Amino acid sequence: MSSNSALERKLARETASRKAAEQLLEQKSLELFEANQQLTLALSQLKKQNRDGLQKLEFEQQISEGLIHFGRAFLSRNLDDGLVSSLLERLKHSSALSHAELFLLPKLVPTLVADRFNVTEVREIGQVKPYAVWEANQLRLPLEVDYKTVGELSVVLNDVNVDRDFVVSQITLVADLLCSAISRQLIITSNQKARARAEESEKATKEFVAMINHELRTPLNGLLGSAELLAETQLNDEQSTLLNNLVYSGDLLRLIINDILDFSKISAGMMELIPSRFEWASVKQMLNGIFQSKAIEKGVDFRIKESTPIPPILIGDFERICQVMVNLVGNAVKFTRQGSVSVTTKWKHDQLTITVEDTGIGIEQEDLSTLFDPFVQVDRTATRHFEGTGLGLAICKNLVELMRGHIHVHSVKGSGSTFTVTIPLVVGEEEIDTEHARPDGNDAVTLLEQLSILVVDDIRMNQVIINQMLKKLSIQPDIATNGIEAIKAASDHQYDLIFMDCRMPEMDGFEATRYLREQNYTLPIIALTAGTTLEEREKCIVSGMNDILTKPYTAQDLRLMLEKWV
Ligand code: ADP
Repeated sequence: MSSNSALERKLARETASRKAAEQLLEQKSLELFEANQQLTLALSQLKKQNRDGLQKLEFEQQISEGLIHFGRAFLSRNLDDGLVSSLLERLKHSSALSHAELFLLPKLVPTLVADRFNVTEVREIGQVKPYAVWEANQLRLPLEVDYKTVGELSVVLNDVNVDRDFVVSQITLVADLLCSAISRQLIITSNQKARARAEESEKATKEFVAMINHELRTPLNGLLGSAELLAETQLNDEQSTLLNNLVYSGDLLRLIINDILDFSKISAGMMELIPSRFEWASVKQMLNGIFQSKAIEKGVDFRIKESTPIPPILIGDFERICQVMVNLVGNAVKFTRQGSVSVTTKWKHDQLTITVEDTGIGIEQEDLSTLFDPFVQVDRTATRHFEGTGLGLAICKNLVELMRGHIHVHSVKGSGSTFTVTIPLVVGEEEIDTEHARPDGNDAVTLLEQLSILVVDDIRMNQVIINQMLKKLSIQPDIATNGIEAIKAASDHQYDLIFMDCRMPEMDGFEATRYLREQNYTLPIIALTAGTTLEEREKCIVSGMNDILTKPYTAQDLRLMLEKWV
């Protein structure tokens, strides 16, 4: 019996311990299961995070590549539909987006290059919010240039679970790039428009200057030409005085018109130099011719000195160099009542220095700084003694600077003034030309009177003047009133020289000359023109004319032209 109970106890103990072991196992396996579940959860979360991170990285990379590519493109090209659409395409095909659109405000589109913006949508200002807006999967970002809303960039996400702040930060970078491209394009467009406006107004100014030049010189030619011819007729004392007044006023008018037209040409950027080979002696001759008698009349001593020898032949714009010198010497004589006016010239390092010194009224120091400005006259009172426009020195300064030289003044009020001009010039070769030595005056007249000349001009007054001037040289010209008549006359008769007006009805002088040259007409054709612009002169030469006689011309100018060409 005792052995049985011991066995039962042993069995009971074993059962109890097995149950305890089973309970422990069950608890442990439960714990393990829970741990495993947590592990699985943790694992899946880790996987998801990694995927999000990878996706973000991919999107960020796509955006930054796009920024680099389009940043360059926007800098090198005009902002147009093609460029914008390819940017939007690139956004649409990025990993995070399914759609992208750009809206511009209607007002903005025409100010960008209008014809290049056809497909970009426009949206009213009220529809654009000034901040980022999410509507379901769609993000709308405003575009701002100079603190003003100019449009909107809108994108649609292809995945609801994407980190939205991250997307906003990336799309903001694209919006910023677009804003800077729009701003750049607005500047370019407004510059282009401003340039077009400036070119338009420059063209209008040039046309106006050319037209007014022509219109003023034509009647002046009639006025001065008639006065010149009248002076050679029999006049009583009263008529002579009146004629002198007429010539004086006409000359003054010519100087004023020349100054105003020169100044307009300078302002319109039309002043151009015409360099040629000239003799230094002829500059001195010209100055002596104009000022010697004037100075004597005023009791002022006038001298031209050379402190170093000047090369006999120089290359430069002879007319403009003379103009500067005539202006300076003219002022010196005008503003000097007694004493002297001297012109000293010097040649050094390929530069010509001209010093015009006078013992005249002088200029206050305070007036010197504005002396070369247009319309400046030291004495502006109504009672001033000296005539002038106040343009002479401004024109001189511009001409000298156009020749790459400089001009300055030194003056002491009451003692006199010194103007110094320095201009670089090229030395010309001396030509020994015995063959074409000029015939003396008498021979010239003898030769001239045998000439057969055709004058082509539509204005009756001009016909009368040139006819009279030629008559003085014993030449009786034929007259044609337009290009068609000129062509007919030239085919019926061989003229030694044709004086051809440029602007005429029916057929102008350019066309007539072109036609005659095409017909192998080789004798000299000289333009008669009131236009002095370089363009007009070129037009004359291009059409086949040999030289130009500018209105208003004198009998002497006409004679020199004839001697030159026949
Ligand atoms: P204008 O002589 O037609 O008035 P300028 O431009 O040639 O115009 O000269 C401007 C002003 O400069 C003159 O009105 C005069 O007051 C002053 N000026 C120029 N040259 C002299 C000079 N040699 N002596 C004194 N004043 C002068």
